[in-house]
Amino acid sequence: MSPLHYQLSLHDYRSHRFAITLIIDQPDPNGQLLRLPKWIPGSYMIRDFSKHIINLRATTFDGEALAVSVVDPAHWQIAPHQRSIKIHYEVYAWDLSVRGAHYDQQHAFLNGTSCFLDVVGQSEQPHSLDLLADEWALQQAWSVATTLPKLAVNEQGFGRYQAATYAELIDHPIEIGSFTELRFDAGGIEHRMVLTGVHDADLERIAADLAPICAAQLAFFGQPTPFKHYLFMVMVTGNGYGGLEHRSSTALMCSRESLPYPGMDQPHDKYLEFLELCSHEYFHSWNVKRIQPAQLQQSDLQSPATTQLLWWFEGATSYYDLLFLYRAGTIDHATYLNKLAEQLTRVYRMPGRFQQTLADSSKQAWTKFYQQDENAPNAIISYYTKGALAVIALDLTLRSHTQGQKNLDDLMRMLWQDYGIAEQGLAENTIELLASDLAGCPLDDFFNQALHSTNDLPLDELFAQVGIQFSLRPPYANQDLGGPHPKANQPDAKPYLNLGAAMANTPNNSIKLTHVWLDRPAHRAGLAGGDEIIALDAIRMSNVAQLDAYLQRRPLGDRLTCHYFRRDELAQTEVTLDLPPADRVVLSAHKSCHWPEK
Ligand code: ZN
Repeated sequence: MSPLHYQLSLHDYRSHRFAITLIIDQPDPNGQLLRLPKWIPGSYMIRDFSKHIINLRATTFDGEALAVSVVDPAHWQIAPHQRSIKIHYEVYAWDLSVRGAHYDQQHAFLNGTSCFLDVVGQSEQPHSLDLLADEWALQQAWSVATTLPKLAVNEQGFGRYQAATYAELIDHPIEIGSFTELRFDAGGIEHRMVLTGVHDADLERIAADLAPICAAQLAFFGQPTPFKHYLFMVMVTGNGYGGLEHRSSTALMCSRESLPYPGMDQPHDKYLEFLELCSHEYFHSWNVKRIQPAQLQQSDLQSPATTQLLWWFEGATSYYDLLFLYRAGTIDHATYLNKLAEQLTRVYRMPGRFQQTLADSSKQAWTKFYQQDENAPNAIISYYTKGALAVIALDLTLRSHTQGQKNLDDLMRMLWQDYGIAEQGLAENTIELLASDLAGCPLDDFFNQALHSTNDLPLDELFAQVGIQFSLRPPYANQDLGGPHPKANQPDAKPYLNLGAAMANTPNNSIKLTHVWLDRPAHRAGLAGGDEIIALDAIRMSNVAQLDAYLQRRPLGDRLTCHYFRRDELAQTEVTLDLPPADRVVLSAHKSCHWPEK
């Protein structure tokens, strides 16, 4: 047994609690300090996982009680003892997300950051873990899925695991239950997906579609591969969406309808989104799990770690996740460009891009991107979407400086070879230096504009060099996400008239404004996020579809009387319909266009 040993037992699914015993062979003779992370890598928010630790006590190996004092919400101090000690506690697991821990009669899912106390001073020691089933888990024939290295486990995966360090222990989430499962080979490496929750997915279809995406990424980065095997852990729910990357696995949440069904022909949009999510988290195995900002590597997970490089780690990963659907043959070139246009539209629709630079977006992720409120579209810009835009502009800039000899792929591979393999952290300016090196000249102007100014990058000029016409047009429908639209070719087509607000139906048969865009009709009329519209022109409006249809019957410039509730107070205003801005991106390729390469 290693100097640090955890036992996790599936204590009681009814109270959603794991029971954990931690054995410390050589505690600090002056009294052992214990702590729990306040955040989980990849998700930049203080989550205070310690709030779910219950009934923590300490004993000698023989069971004699030792005093425990709470130092602060995330630290515990154990009374001095010269020999082995045991720490006993429970974890309340009722957070159905990829970031926490969840346990009920259907399954158990856990991240180490929620469950395993860090023994201060011994984080670099080996950490072993016994996973113990209870009667219910045995009755239900539950098994374990995790990439945590196995020492001695039974056929169901219960038994002993061992991690080389604390950081490794918390980077292998664990799923336990009666999941469905698929396996495939990519690049000679075994890949496995386990799906928990009610679903009717065509597993063979997922394997057939995902294998070429993984194989293309493995081939792109070349040897050495970062892992010996890989696991996708998918929680299927009614409307979930999200993912979190780990060193050889990912935890994903998706909706039932995003999965393929037996007999499905062409992949539908939601399924493409699911494949893109898988592709995204898989790409992170290189870009952020091994190629890492030094600022994140140095974190003890107790306070926010700040870097300006999230634009690269999430922007480049967002750019490549879709690109690998094209490179793997999941989508054709036209579909690729249309999806890319939709991605770029998500930047051009945000007035906040004129308020926050990309570098600041990254540095303020903790307080702004992860704590978005009703003003978010007007105040911030996402380092995912604008980061992807900047990465595309960087690719096109590298090409133009090198007569097409160098591009973003060269930069990405260089990062893997020179930094990722050795896990050498990136300084805040490493990307800029490497890119300038590749370009053969300083790219200060480019990076100043892309990262430190709020001016739009000259995408029209940059795309023109590779035979793509970049243009902007107004919206023609409520769900117009960008890309080509049949109405765009009709000279007298009327744009989709709207209030310039995001809206949702309420149970009161009214319409709630969730976000109000600056300098659009709702804003100019004094409406705000949270307001509930009940009538236009003294006609009751019961839902968003009805309001939408009413607006489309009105002429441009029309003035409408609007009745609404702010909190519980009835108010009235006048809304003037304006010409919606041209903020939907269209990318049209000339026949000669070979961008991006397959
Ligand atoms: Zn990501």
